[in-house]
Amino acid sequence: MSLALARKWRPKTFSELVGQDHVVNALTNAISQGRMHHAWLFTGTRGVGKTTLARIIAKALNCNALNGADPCGRCDSCLLIDQSRFVDVIELDAASNTQVDNMRELLETAAYKPTVGEYKIFIIDEVHMLSRSAFNAMLKTLEEPPEHVKFILATTDPQKVPVTVLSRCLQFNLKPIPVPIIKAQMAKILDDEKIEFDSQGIELLSRYARGSLRDGLSLLDQSIAQGDGQVQEESVKSMLGIVDDSLVRGLLEASLEQDGNLLVQMIDDIERMGASFSYVLDEMATLIQRLSLFALTTEGLDEDLIEGYQALVNQTDEEHLQLLYQIATVGKRDLPLAPNEKVGFTMVMLRMMAFLPAVESGGELVKKKSEGHQEPITKAKSIKTSSPKEDKKANVPGVIHTNEDWKKFVSERVATGMAKMLAENAEFRSFNEGVLSLSLDNEHKHLLEDRYKNKLQELIREHLSIQCRLEINAGVASDTLLADQVVESKNRLDQTTKDLEDDPFVKSLKSDLGGILVSESIRPSE
Ligand SMILES: [Zn+2]
Repeated sequence: MSLALARKWRPKTFSELVGQDHVVNALTNAISQGRMHHAWLFTGTRGVGKTTLARIIAKALNCNALNGADPCGRCDSCLLIDQSRFVDVIELDAASNTQVDNMRELLETAAYKPTVGEYKIFIIDEVHMLSRSAFNAMLKTLEEPPEHVKFILATTDPQKVPVTVLSRCLQFNLKPIPVPIIKAQMAKILDDEKIEFDSQGIELLSRYARGSLRDGLSLLDQSIAQGDGQVQEESVKSMLGIVDDSLVRGLLEASLEQDGNLLVQMIDDIERMGASFSYVLDEMATLIQRLSLFALTTEGLDEDLIEGYQALVNQTDEEHLQLLYQIATVGKRDLPLAPNEKVGFTMVMLRMMAFLPAVESGGELVKKKSEGHQEPITKAKSIKTSSPKEDKKANVPGVIHTNEDWKKFVSERVATGMAKMLAENAEFRSFNEGVLSLSLDNEHKHLLEDRYKNKLQELIREHLSIQCRLEINAGVASDTLLADQVVESKNRLDQTTKDLEDDPFVKSLKSDLGGILVSESIRPSE
């Protein structure tokens, strides 16, 4: 596909234009009855069809073989207008700097008769950005319009168009195009282009288009490119940085259960997925709002969702939800101020963790927190010096003679999949006479499958450039890469918990708590 879909599928006739029936009906009636106003103004957000409509009108006014109100698309006028080469149709983009200088002069040519067509037509996009002198030149013509001149104006910001101009135009408001219409158009285009797609994939794209078919089609272009010539939900999700609902629920649950380790792990996962933290925060706020509503009605929710929501609602109460909502929305607002999105997001989640509802189970929750935190953190501190992070940049040795060699090899050379899981949970034992021997904790012996082992062996051979054999025995393995990573993430949690204590937002919430909340149902968790 050499041509972008939005350009290739730009409607060329009224009947091809979707989602603006009310405007199209009014225009086609006027054209077929020969009642042509001398100036139209199309308003509406970007990508809803304003300039597309302008071009179709320009063709309809100059076409030699109208088909009802639709231009034929084959006569010289139609073809030349489609290629922007028709001398009597003058297209200006007031938002473009390159045309600023000659706009006034171009508008002054309105006085002259058209060269080849019946009408001289000015199409001016983003007309609110015209210079004062250009507006004046246009007004002169608008006040006493010659028969041969038509103005078709478009703007995303009609408030900024001078009243003197507005009052002389017939105004049409183009609406954002509804999701089902965008979706149907995408399906039609994909069918025609013989591109495979699934319904959920284009549903997501249609929602993200936010009422603009043009934006929707360029998203579609992207997703075809990234989905290897197909449009499937999974690849669309990863392109848009969408995470599953269940992940957002999991985050909230982890914070309600004061499980900081899980929280840090999940945040790492989101980062690895390449998802947008800002989007996740939006979803979080939406989830909290739904939970608040959940108390009032469960209508429209399916069984699984009701169960999941109930479990969350049991751990909180209405006022606590209000507070969490506030933390999520303020966090979203402040996200651009954070050093990076991940740091900002982690802070928001920790703020949520800092407050507990004082419901009956509250005492238990607080206890859970202190148990969960202190023990592993002190342990973590003592091992901190051997954190793998510091070694990470070091070169991977060309031999595997020690457990440290092994861990470096795994962290740098074993990238993905179950082979990685296996390797991360294994500890080095020995390397003798071409046999690399590892030990795997009994807890993880389900990973001991030939295909994972063979994959790992392949990677080791590649790295060492010798035909060694890999031997893995289930037993005890405690000094593994995974264990290091757990320690590392606990260290990070420790640090962020400290940061949280100094967080001005949490401080102010704590001090204002009495003011914000009517009752004392919520209290800081420390
Ligand atoms: Zn024609």
